[in-house]
Amino acid sequence: MIVMKFGGTSVEDAKSMQTVIKIVRKEQARQPVVVLSAISGTTNTLLKVARIAQEGKLNDAILLLNGLLDRHVTVMENLIDDRSTIQRLIASFKPRFEELQNLCQGIAILGELTNRSLDAIASVGELLSSQILSEAMCIQGLPAKWVDARTFIITDNQFVSAVPQFDQINVKSKEILSPLLASKTIIVTQGFIGSNSKGITTTLGRGGSDYSASIIGAALDAEEIQIWTDVDGVLTADPRIAPAAQKLRIISFREAAELAYFGAKVLHPSTIFPAVKKDIPVVVLNSKRPENTGTRIVSRPPKTNVPVKSIACKRGITVVNVQSLRMLMAYGFLESIFSVFNKYETSVDLVSTSEVAVSLTIDNTSTLDKIVAELSTFAEVSILEKQGILCIVGDQMRSTAGVANQIFHALREINLVMISQGASEINMSIVIEESQVDEAVRRLHKQFFEPIPAIDLFELVGGK
Ligand code: ASP
Ligand code: MG
Repeated sequence: MIVMKFGGTSVEDAKSMQTVIKIVRKEQARQPVVVLSAISGTTNTLLKVARIAQEGKLNDAILLLNGLLDRHVTVMENLIDDRSTIQRLIASFKPRFEELQNLCQGIAILGELTNRSLDAIASVGELLSSQILSEAMCIQGLPAKWVDARTFIITDNQFVSAVPQFDQINVKSKEILSPLLASKTIIVTQGFIGSNSKGITTTLGRGGSDYSASIIGAALDAEEIQIWTDVDGVLTADPRIAPAAQKLRIISFREAAELAYFGAKVLHPSTIFPAVKKDIPVVVLNSKRPENTGTRIVSRPPKTNVPVKSIACKRGITVVNVQSLRMLMAYGFLESIFSVFNKYETSVDLVSTSEVAVSLTIDNTSTLDKIVAELSTFAEVSILEKQGILCIVGDQMRSTAGVANQIFHALREINLVMISQGASEINMSIVIEESQVDEAVRRLHKQFFEPIPAIDLFELVGGK
C-alpha cells in the first residue's frame, strides 16, 4: 500500500480537489490511504474563531464560522454533480458547525480557552475536507471510504501537540485499515488529528498532517509515502536566485534534514522520521504539476560522483560574538553562554569556537537586548546584524577531497564572517553579509552545477 498525503493548497478549491482525485485514481492499484489536510486557511480561521470567542466577541466568531461553512459548500457544489449527495454532506456538516458554535459560546461565557477546546475546534477542518473528497470520489466511481483518524491515531493527553502512541496506533491501524485495504477500498482520512485513550480529540501540532502520513505509513509498512504539496521538490538552489537551478530526483534523509532549516521546500525531518526509520521512501510531489517526478527522500540513496547536492541560504541572521580571556583552558564557559540563550528561549543555529571566543547565530532577536546584557556580565559581546547563512549540503562531501577548496574558490571575493561544519560532515555553513547572499549562491551554483553534472539525479523543474 502507499500513503498519499495532500496539503491544504492541494485541496484549496474544487479544481484542486478534482486534480487530487485524478492523481489518486492513477495510483489506485497501489492501495492508497489518502491523508488530507484542511482546505488551505481553514485551520488558521478556526483558531482565530476560538480566540475571538475567548475575547467575548461571539457574533464575530459565528460570522467567521458561517464564512467557513459557505466556503466548504462552494467547494462541494463545484465538485459534486449530484444534488442529493450535496444535501447529505451539508446535513452532516450541520451538527459539526452547531457543535463549534456551542463550543464558542462556552468559551465566550467563561472567557477561557483551553488547549483541549482548541483541538476540538481546529480538528474540524480536516474532518470537512476529507468528507468532501471522499464523497466526490465515490460519485466518480472510486471505492472510497471515509475513516475517522481519531479511531486509530491514538495519542497522549498533550492537547495542541499530542504525542502519538505508536504501539496502540500499530494495533488500531492494522485492525481498522488493513481489512479495508484488503478489500481494495481507497481509505480517505485526516492528517493532524487523533484522540487520547478516552476518545477525546487531540492534534499533533501545526503542520501535523505530514507527521500523520508518516505515522500511518510506518504502521502499515507502506511501500512509499507521497507528500503532495505546491513545490516541485528539493532543488539545487532557489531558482529565483540561480535560474539554472534544477530539481534533485533523490536525496538522503540526512541531506533533507540539513536543508530543513532553510525553508519550506523540505519537510520537517522529525515528521518523516517514523517512515525513514522503517526505510520507507518519502516522495515530495507538486499537485499543481503532477506530471513531475518530485524528490524522493530515502535513508540510503545510491552513491553518485556528485559531492554537493544543494545550496541553501537564509537571510536575517544575527551573529553574536562572545569573547573572554577567562575562557582559555577553563571549563563550563560554553555552558554559561548557552544557559543565557536557554533562559530567553532563543535557539542557536550555528556555533563556531576558538580558545577565547565563541560565535553563534540566531534568527530570532526578540530578546537579544536581554541576552547581550546578561552575557556582558562575564564576557565581551559584539553583535553583527544583517547577516546571511549559506549552506552547502551533500552526503559525499564527507568522502570527497577538495570540496572546501572549491567552495572557498567560488567565494574568494566575499568576506566570510563565520564557517561551521556539522559533525556529520555533509554540510558546510558559511555566514556572510546579507547583501552578498544572492551573489554567493550564484557563484557556488556555477562552481558545482553549471554545467549540471551529466547524471539523471538532476531534472529540469517543470519536467521541461
Ligand atoms: N491543517 C493543519 C495546519 O494547518 C495541519 C496541516 O495542514 O498539516 O496546521
Ligand atoms: Mg500544511
